[in-house]
Amino acid sequence: MKHFAVIGGGVVGAAITYELSRLSQLQVTLLEQQEAASGATGAALGILMGVVSQKTKGRAWRLREMSLQRYQTLLPELEALTGLSIPWNNQGLVKLCVQAEDWPRWQRLQAEREQMGWPLELWDRDTLATRCPPIQHGELVGAVYSPQDGQVNPVALTEALIAGARQNGANCRFGVTVRGGIESPAQPPFCRQLDTSQGPLAVDGVIIAAGLGSTPLTEHWQSPVSIFPVLGQGLRVRLAEPLGDVGFQPVIAGEGVNIVPLGGLEYGLGATVEFPDASGVVVADGMELEGLLERAIAICPTLAQAEILQIWSGKRPRPQGRPAPVIEPLANYDNIWLASGHYRNGVLLAPATALMVRDFITNTPWVSTQG
Ligand SMILES: Cc1cc2nc3c(=O)[nH]c(=O)nc-3n(C[C@H](O)[C@H](O)[C@H](O)COP(=O)(O)OP(=O)(O)OC[C@H]3O[C@@H](n4cnc5c(N)ncnc54)[C@H](O)[C@@H]3O)c2cc1C
Repeated sequence: MKHFAVIGGGVVGAAITYELSRLSQLQVTLLEQQEAASGATGAALGILMGVVSQKTKGRAWRLREMSLQRYQTLLPELEALTGLSIPWNNQGLVKLCVQAEDWPRWQRLQAEREQMGWPLELWDRDTLATRCPPIQHGELVGAVYSPQDGQVNPVALTEALIAGARQNGANCRFGVTVRGGIESPAQPPFCRQLDTSQGPLAVDGVIIAAGLGSTPLTEHWQSPVSIFPVLGQGLRVRLAEPLGDVGFQPVIAGEGVNIVPLGGLEYGLGATVEFPDASGVVVADGMELEGLLERAIAICPTLAQAEILQIWSGKRPRPQGRPAPVIEPLANYDNIWLASGHYRNGVLLAPATALMVRDFITNTPWVSTQG
């Protein structure tokens, strides 16, 4: 049996660990330096914006479609396996349209998605007003309703993936930092052992899913991949009554702000997009947060009465100078893969990432199906 280690217990590492734990020919260990979902995953809103994205071909769409399809089976599968409940909003997503000149683009997308089997509805102003009465921005031309997009609680999902992986026999260890590895002198080199804060760990293969922590690990293995932080701030608010129809609570996306129903009278508002300064440092900016709240109130005036329960921030891992995410064998190695840099869509893309990594591994000749 081959032993694979996954570095990082965010949603991406957890999804990979779970998919690999389903393969009988592998033994899997997850290594996380803190707790599950303690990086970007713990700050995410968990919006699954796949069908309504403007990505219609190539890898960007393939990953989205693969994830949306896998989500349909993954969530019930995990709930049945673990007995945990994963809060999931399957009432769809409403993408607001302000620019009249964008409308033909949405019409084209609707036609393309229709052919692919992912229907979208185009709502004019009146339909939007009927379906989502609290949305009252004067300049809106309409909205696109995507019934198959939605939202999932990222922390609950990550915990369920880890619980499911454990039930399948994976060893999930927390409070363990991976510092690097020890290579065999073979050509190309193989990583035979991980150097961790709790001692060495013998491995046959390694998956780096460490988010922002991936860069130092790739540097250690002399195949640097630069991933930098893009900060996001969000707010959790409570209203006196639900926004609109209690029976129809989709995610609302538009004008630089997303409104996410969190159950009961609570809503998440997010998120700002804040880039680091020249020295690579990014610190949460109060003005950006104010701007976010103003934009939310501009599309949904009721939010002006909301009580702010929590303000939080997190850092999205974004690859430097290349499209997100990076899912590939680490250059120069036959037994290290990188699955990182998911930027704004790590929750959406985690299931597809895990399937891609699984396929890389099962298609690797030295990973024997026998033993
Ligand atoms: C405010 C905000 C809102 C967001 N909203 C959404 C959204 O609505 N939808 C969506 O799809 N995405 C969203 N994202 C993006 C999403 O959060 C990320 O893309 C995703 O969480 C990345 O997951 P990850 O597992 O790769 O990284 P992380 O969650 O950062 O996990 C990496 C883990 O690796 C561990 N680690 C690092 N180095 C080491 C080491 N050497 N040894 C052991 N462990 C290590 C870290 O402790 C961490 O737990 C949002 C992000 C933010 C900040």
